[in-house]
Amino acid sequence: MRITTIRVYQVDLPMTKPYRLSGGRLWTSLDTTVVALETDAGVTGWGEACPFGSSYLPAFAKGARAVIDELAPSILGCDPRRTDRVNDVMDRALPGHPYGKTAIDMACWDILGKDAGMPVCDLMGGRAEGAVDLVSSVSAGGLAETLSNIKALRQRGYRKHSVKFSGDVSEDIARLDVVAEILALGDDALCDCNGGWLQGDAVAVMEAARQRGLTLLFEQPCATYEQCLAASRMVSQPIMLDESLDDVTVLLRAIADNACAAINIKIGKVGGLTKARLIRDVAAHAGLTMSLQDTGGTQITAAAILHLAQSTPAPLRHSLWDATEIHDVCLADGKPDWVDGTMTAPDTPGLGIQPKPDKLGDPVAVYTV
Ligand code: MG
Repeated sequence: MRITTIRVYQVDLPMTKPYRLSGGRLWTSLDTTVVALETDAGVTGWGEACPFGSSYLPAFAKGARAVIDELAPSILGCDPRRTDRVNDVMDRALPGHPYGKTAIDMACWDILGKDAGMPVCDLMGGRAEGAVDLVSSVSAGGLAETLSNIKALRQRGYRKHSVKFSGDVSEDIARLDVVAEILALGDDALCDCNGGWLQGDAVAVMEAARQRGLTLLFEQPCATYEQCLAASRMVSQPIMLDESLDDVTVLLRAIADNACAAINIKIGKVGGLTKARLIRDVAAHAGLTMSLQDTGGTQITAAAILHLAQSTPAPLRHSLWDATEIHDVCLADGKPDWVDGTMTAPDTPGLGIQPKPDKLGDPVAVYTV
């Protein structure tokens, strides 16, 4: 089987409400790139790359399309079912730039599943028992707004919440009240500062939690791996690494350093399902819990994450974030519904989604052999 055509689509994803992260960062819309890989066997695979704007990670939407443009001559003619080999080709042709490669890699897994007649989760090690818990993503607004957002999310079935912290120490110590309220409701909370605290700030907030008798999971408290490690060694609060864990090499170091209790794997951050699976499997061997996510995206991305999460051993599977939570755009049918704050991967071959041509519009680029 050979890739014969690559079609690239661009779609805007206006958010249902403005979204804030630490440091005053604000988003109102995302720009997503959808890729269709066509093959000489008549099988088409779908993938998506959706960076969270330009200021969240070293990634941006126009860059994703430029990455695909740069890689297209190398990818055409490859057998998409040989996913590791396709990644070798991409990494030789263009080192780095994982945020663009993820769309091609995801589409290759979709083709592999369709060709094998198996869902991607069964090709990634096999379906693990149980439904996958969803985690909400609670924008770092004011405290009253945060609490009302959480109550609305609970009504949609969420029982796990990633509460975004602002980066302002006194405000964030007060935000622990919101976290305590979530715990009192019987729900689970992550405290995610998205790298927004200096080490001393992180220590102050984590120590304030400890003095209240709260042991919480603090996600990416500081900007760099080294700062997170230093902060975690100064207080007795567990850490989840996210933004700075972008490669299996960082994970190996984190395991050796005992730097974290959990990790957040975003498939676009690491370069696609192939690399996310490697990180997932190493983390599982080390006994780390995981949240499986991407930086943004539609039903296509959500399906890809779901297959990765569904094939992750249940005791290690903290949660999945479905980015369709923050917008109303539907580019594909087939994504499983949310059921009581959970999702379960479909049994249909590949990713199990069917993109809607009328919603994708005309391709912005087409590459053929
Ligand atoms: Mg995070």
